[in-house]
Amino acid sequence: RPRVLSGIQPTAGSFHLGNYLGAVRQWVALQETHDAFYMVVDLHAITVPQDPEELRANTRLATAQLLAAGLDPDRCTLFVQSHVPEHAQLAWVMNCLTGFGEASRMTQFKDKSAKQGADRASVGLFTYPILQVADILLYQANEVPVGEDQRQHIELTRDLATRFNGRFGDTFTLPKPYILKETAKIYDLQDPAVKMSKSASTPKGLINLLDEPKTTAKKVKSAVTDTDTVIRYDVAEKPGVSNLLTIYSTLTGTGIPELEAKYEGKGYGALKTDLAEVMVEFVTPFRERTQQYLDDPETLDSILAKGAEKARAVAAETLAQAYERVGFLPAK
Ligand code: ATP
Ligand code: MG
Repeated sequence: RPRVLSGIQPTAGSFHLGNYLGAVRQWVALQETHDAFYMVVDLHAITVPQDPEELRANTRLATAQLLAAGLDPDRCTLFVQSHVPEHAQLAWVMNCLTGFGEASRMTQFKDKSAKQGADRASVGLFTYPILQVADILLYQANEVPVGEDQRQHIELTRDLATRFNGRFGDTFTLPKPYILKETAKIYDLQDPAVKMSKSASTPKGLINLLDEPKTTAKKVKSAVTDTDTVIRYDVAEKPGVSNLLTIYSTLTGTGIPELEAKYEGKGYGALKTDLAEVMVEFVTPFRERTQQYLDDPETLDSILAKGAEKARAVAAETLAQAYERVGFLPAK
């Protein structure tokens, strides 16, 4: 079975619709066909300041949401990044292989540091993509299911794997991004020019899966569209409407042409009312299942303990090989 690896940050509490449609939904599907490793990336989370108690709670909450979304610990390896020390250990080596200029070209750092104020951004935020490189290479992943915003980081992973392999001998598998075109980028409902994001969206433009369903319905109904009236998929001319159609289509399994036909001659109000209902039907059981997992922290922690054990077995082997190739003296 080919292997997949991916991660999600335990920040902001609730996952948003972009996380789900862009990434987590694919994770659930891929556990049936791939040897799948999925993690809650708490090391990545502390690239920006976190309250310790909140971080701990959010790590459990992220795990509960992944289980509620359909990850099955018998079909995939689900773990917390900091439980596997090899991530930080390989990241150091990768840091030393990366050019400063090369790291400086990562657009996500530019965006995130600009938002924080360049002086306040941490060095960790700067090297975040390199930790991500280590995350992926440790598992010899063939594919990485992520949203479009991560494409550049997968490219960096391929570059560094190639560099390491060239310098020290074949060690790492070159991964490919697994990005579904339709859901690669879900946009903010209030500003369809920017991606929906935990850290950057306006509250009204961000669909949190754990919001009250009523709030979610309200956000859908007040989504920004355009002054035209036709319901048609056209990302350039009608980004807001197209975003709603993408969401609707993916959640219901209805093709976009079918939706266009269904809403021919109808107004945006009809589309939004129906989509609000679809959303409510999706989030209501999701919230319930998440709460059930949260109510049983012992089960949650034991799932994570088993996951970490399985992950470490793979990660330790890769790290040992990489350390040996680099020229580190084995500890006896
Ligand atoms: P932040 O803004 O803090 O980076 P985020 O909203 O991007 O948070 P992450 O935990 O960084 O959330 O991302 C988890 C996964 O969700 C990644 O694979 C990412 O590509 C994907 N993702 C995030 N936002 C979107 C979006 N708007 N559309 C599609 N995929 C997305
Ligand atoms: Mg992100």
